[in-house]
Amino acid sequence: MSDFDMRRTIARKRDGAALDDAEWQAVVAGYMSDAIEEAQLAALFMACYFKGIDEPEAAALTRAMVESGETLAPPVANCVDKHSSGGVADTASLIVVPIAAACGIPVAKLSGRALGHTGGTLDKLEAIPGVRTDLSPEAFAEQVRTVGCAVAAQSARLVPADKRMYALRDRTSTVQSLGLVAASIVSKKIAAGAPSIVFDVKVGRGAFFKDLSEVEALSRTMVHIAESFGRRCAAVVTDMNEPLGPAIGTGLEAIEARDFLRNGRRDPRLLALCAILATKMLETAGFAGDAAGAIRHALDSGAAYEMLERMLAAQGAAPGALDALRPHARMLEVRANRSGFVATIDAPKLGLFARALTERFGGTAGVFVHKRIGDAVTAGDVLATVFGGESGEDVLAAYGLADSAPPPRPLVYFEIASEAGGGPEAAAGEPRSRLATR
Ligand code: URA
Ligand code: CA
Repeated sequence: MSDFDMRRTIARKRDGAALDDAEWQAVVAGYMSDAIEEAQLAALFMACYFKGIDEPEAAALTRAMVESGETLAPPVANCVDKHSSGGVADTASLIVVPIAAACGIPVAKLSGRALGHTGGTLDKLEAIPGVRTDLSPEAFAEQVRTVGCAVAAQSARLVPADKRMYALRDRTSTVQSLGLVAASIVSKKIAAGAPSIVFDVKVGRGAFFKDLSEVEALSRTMVHIAESFGRRCAAVVTDMNEPLGPAIGTGLEAIEARDFLRNGRRDPRLLALCAILATKMLETAGFAGDAAGAIRHALDSGAAYEMLERMLAAQGAAPGALDALRPHARMLEVRANRSGFVATIDAPKLGLFARALTERFGGTAGVFVHKRIGDAVTAGDVLATVFGGESGEDVLAAYGLADSAPPPRPLVYFEIASEAGGGPEAAAGEPRSRLATR
């Protein structure tokens, strides 16, 4: 590494070369020790943005990033983690984590905060009075073992390189590089320790990537890299052209998850996606038997709801806090100004609007969407309800109404499953290096 020359590495990527493992290692180690200047890494990232990073490079970068910090041991051999690449009204984590745990598959999930217009699971949990997400790695593992699931913030000791590199990418408009995104996401999941991982990769106007072929490539890269670490995983590419469920806002989404698990008030799109993700989580973790039947039973028997309550209590929820959660008392209906069909919904606009409302009026402010893409509306129909806010103008502007219904879109575009190896046994052994040593 002593003969490493960052200027030469930048020039090689600028000219379209694939960097080797030692270079990626030296780049990450050098940046973390301040031997490499921020300007140099920024230049390398911009070169990556234009020239791309191939899969072996992304795997080498992932490995170097993982090695910048600690890696947790799996709390239990058969536990699973679930990741969403980020969307609007994506309440799925709060629903599928307790479902999988109630089916006997422990869930060890480290989550993030809201990023831009997308919501963060940690913020949704913290909208429930008393709930903490800053669990120590020891407390996190212990809760997975005793309760069956835990959702916590990633400790600063895991992948410290990602925090610094992501901030630099954000400042230099180089976030949207496929290989950099794959390494950023996968490194955090590897360090978090779960031997099985399910990736929900979003595509569409409310997602990080809008193009299906790009998202397919991203998903394959993430699955292959995670496999090269001996993890078993699956990726599901799902639609984010409109909010996933009706509730948008931290507390409103916690309420939605509660009612979904408890009362059977289940939005069909949210239910369809949660059933698919929960099934993938069980299958990837090696669940033996009828996954769909087990999931239905966990929902119908109330076992999944009880699991959510136990998890929240273990993380400090005040007794009855979830039950007592109500939407903000000030509410305002947004009505259609013409008849027709809902052709588009600007999910990022609604996500940012709901985020601004919760920042101003508290965690139970936000938006509840009644009309979805494809729905017929008559002038005067209620499109959405705003909780906490004083104006519905932004919400009305987020709706595109047209004379005819748009063609139907799938909820799931495709799935990618582990091809070989991986799984709980392999995770304990040597990382597979198929990609890194090609
Ligand atoms: N989410 C991440 O964690 N990293 C990225 O680079 C993009 C989305
Ligand atoms: Ca595998």
